[in-house]
Amino acid sequence: MDPRTVDVSAHTPMMAQYLAIKAEHPSTFVFYRMGDFYELFYSDAERAADLLGITLTRRGQSAGAPVVMCGVPFHALEGYLAKLIRLGESVAICEQVGEVTGKGPVERKVVRVVTPGTLTDASLLADKTESVLLALHPGPRQACGLAWLSLTHSELHLAECRVDDLPVWLARISPSELLLGADVPDALEARIKGLRLTSPQGGPLAISTRPAWQFDSALGQRKLCEQLRVASLAAWHADALPQAHAAASALLAFAEHTQGQALSHLQAIRVARADAAIDLPTSTRRNLELVQTLRGEDSPTLFSLMDTCMTGMGSRLLKRWLLEPQRDRSEAHARLLATTQLRETHGPAQWNRLREQLKGTSDVERIGARTALYQVRPRELVALQLALVKSGELAARLTGLDGLLAGIAQDLQPPEGCAALLAAAILEEPAAMVRDGGVIATGHDAELDELRAIQTNCDAFLLDLETRERARSGIANLRVQFNKVHGFYIEVTQGALDKVPTDYRRRQTLKNAERFITPELKAFEDKALSAQERALAREKWLYDRLLGQLQAYVPALSRLAQALAALDVLATLAERSLTLNWCAPQFVKEPCIAIEGGRHPVVEARLAETSQAPFIANDTQLSVRQRMQVITGPNMGGKSTYMRQVALIVLLASMGSHVPATRCRLGPIDAIHTRIGAADDLANAQSTFMVEMTEAAQILHGATRHSLVLMDEIGRGTSTFDGLALASGIAAQLHDRTQAFTLFATHYFELTEFPARHHAAQNVHVSAAEAGGDIVFLHEIQAGPASRSYGIQVARLAGMPTPVLNHARHTLETLEAQASESRAQIDLFAPPPVSEAVGPGPVESALAAIDPDALTPREALDALYRLKNIARREQAAGPAATEASPS
Ligand code: ATP
Repeated sequence: MDPRTVDVSAHTPMMAQYLAIKAEHPSTFVFYRMGDFYELFYSDAERAADLLGITLTRRGQSAGAPVVMCGVPFHALEGYLAKLIRLGESVAICEQVGEVTGKGPVERKVVRVVTPGTLTDASLLADKTESVLLALHPGPRQACGLAWLSLTHSELHLAECRVDDLPVWLARISPSELLLGADVPDALEARIKGLRLTSPQGGPLAISTRPAWQFDSALGQRKLCEQLRVASLAAWHADALPQAHAAASALLAFAEHTQGQALSHLQAIRVARADAAIDLPTSTRRNLELVQTLRGEDSPTLFSLMDTCMTGMGSRLLKRWLLEPQRDRSEAHARLLATTQLRETHGPAQWNRLREQLKGTSDVERIGARTALYQVRPRELVALQLALVKSGELAARLTGLDGLLAGIAQDLQPPEGCAALLAAAILEEPAAMVRDGGVIATGHDAELDELRAIQTNCDAFLLDLETRERARSGIANLRVQFNKVHGFYIEVTQGALDKVPTDYRRRQTLKNAERFITPELKAFEDKALSAQERALAREKWLYDRLLGQLQAYVPALSRLAQALAALDVLATLAERSLTLNWCAPQFVKEPCIAIEGGRHPVVEARLAETSQAPFIANDTQLSVRQRMQVITGPNMGGKSTYMRQVALIVLLASMGSHVPATRCRLGPIDAIHTRIGAADDLANAQSTFMVEMTEAAQILHGATRHSLVLMDEIGRGTSTFDGLALASGIAAQLHDRTQAFTLFATHYFELTEFPARHHAAQNVHVSAAEAGGDIVFLHEIQAGPASRSYGIQVARLAGMPTPVLNHARHTLETLEAQASESRAQIDLFAPPPVSEAVGPGPVESALAAIDPDALTPREALDALYRLKNIARREQAAGPAATEASPS
């Protein structure tokens, strides 16, 4: 039986209340507070028990059936929440908000909804991870609107793209949660799910369905204007984005719904354009191991190597810079200048001190946002106050610098009065929660001080009363005391009962004593007990008032957080540059990638750690005239490493970092494409080869002459001839049509003939030498093709059994002998014959030239004979033409 289908009146009052709340949150777990537990019921309970590994029970009866339930202790809430959120689930926290009246259940209300895309809480969100909420709205003619935000930032992002480009955008935005309208076509939803995206928190991307009416363009535009308190969005170039406005409408509604209030700290819009960022498709992020290794681990990656940031804000910003390099290089240029300034002018001693000072600075970005959302905790405010003091000192350290750093120094100035307000209002070591009291500083509020004084002066009063009552009654062993159950009392032993004054009222009888209360003591008791309650209420009120006062500082805090993060990243870039011996790249207008002494930073660091042989630096010269390298060489020679290092250097330069090289000149870059490695995509019913070809096709469609393309052993997923034929076709397309900067590593020696026929391609190889039957890798990139693959030698190094190696050697000799006989006959790079699909054949041309209405019967017969002759000649030539084709 589904309890929701039963008439609510048939349920107990409490279950009726629960079901009413659950009806408002159908696709969210409802954690229903009952005393010291959060309880889950019915299907929620069954799923949660499964996901959280907690015991499912059946208790009592409601609507004629036992209630299926499970629960978690209230003090352990965060741990369970974190687990569910990681799994992409959402939770509505339902608290008791009313008084216990004895009549019906206590009033309860959902106070917040925790979802993967709306996290701000440090206990649910790792320091270096961003929680991003994205709304998507497909419009007419393939247009698609996107709106996204991170609740810890003050910016909302808008974009419009084509549905076909969604994979690129989703990879770029990397959302934790996606909002789709209920009316989104199934095919589109299936396509998005087919991308099998993961959230930055590591779990699957959570997809939430929202009512279709919430995706309303006019409503979205109005909401955005209200949010920014402006009449038009033109200042942000965001006024003509109807699909994005529709997405923003649902985005804001959902975010406000989860927080239970407006997002006052959202103060800016940023419109993202497809052509503004350097394209880093998912395959590129994966293959270059930017933030995750191919095995899905966090280290060693480019990010893990770079991230020596001192704050979580810095780490998050560094990740953003790394994953969102811009085509326009002005920002990267400014970062480079600032890094160089810190590295050279400021000097290591200075920036090291600066970094030391940044260490331990609290997460002002998150605290600022949580202040705006009225969710900030007392200890976070103490941490904020310390950060404000620190940022003032940091600003002072940056005096005399210009450019980006001068702007940062300005934004680091703490907003006037904020630190003082916090210091005056909050105790130095406050309780964790306001509800426990002990948060507001002494001296901040006279009424609170008085209420607290009543509690503290309690002991003194009781001692004083005891002395007075002993004197009054003449009972020397009379005692005034307190316990939680019976409150205050005067205790008199049996032997002295006859001396008890008449105004004493009996409270409790014990074996050897009687306990009394007097009017004076009763009055004190009322005051003391209510003082505690009133002090708690007063503290709560004062705390809320403080949060209200802090709202005025939120914009400045957000600027300060950005400045702290940027300073942290720039100081980190300076430190990395010096520690790892990197150089400043130079941006030039002419298309080129010119690297001297380039190294793969992660491989180099790993070699340094394991104290193996040093990393061998290599040069790369790509220009309009030399835009393709055909790279050959032995297995394990370093081809992949070399190609990836070029891509990483280009990426690092583009984000504004120094690079692992001795010199680097870089022209404009619009994308980095990679086709590396082999992996089945079984979930999407794609074989290794299908994945390989799909990715290669995407590159051929997407790359331009400003793109960098890495092709590693394309074609190896099929038979040798098919693979070779496809590889040569792809190389020709990249060289002739796309004209992208291309690094083309291959084991097909036939392809080393490619440069002879293609002027902008050159052969290079990674060097190796043979010593006593063993191979020695030199890892040096040298001009010209490689002479051999050394596959069998590498297999020997890998521990392959000797009989297998002997067999392989024998087979190789036979194959090589056969190949040298037949190779001469194949011309891989001859242009393909004109196919019927490309243009009309001779028969069609002759037919097209005939105008039947203008022919006499005799001429018609002649024309027919002529056509037959042409067809016969064609037939005779056909097989020869097929043999000459490269297939
Ligand atoms: P395969 O053809 O088998 O894929 P490959 O030629 O692509 O091999 P890589 O995977 O790039 O070879 O390199 C193999 C190993 O060689 C690396 O893991 C690294 O340890 C070492 N190596 C590569 N390049 C260098 C270099 N420039 N200096 C020092 N060691 C290097």
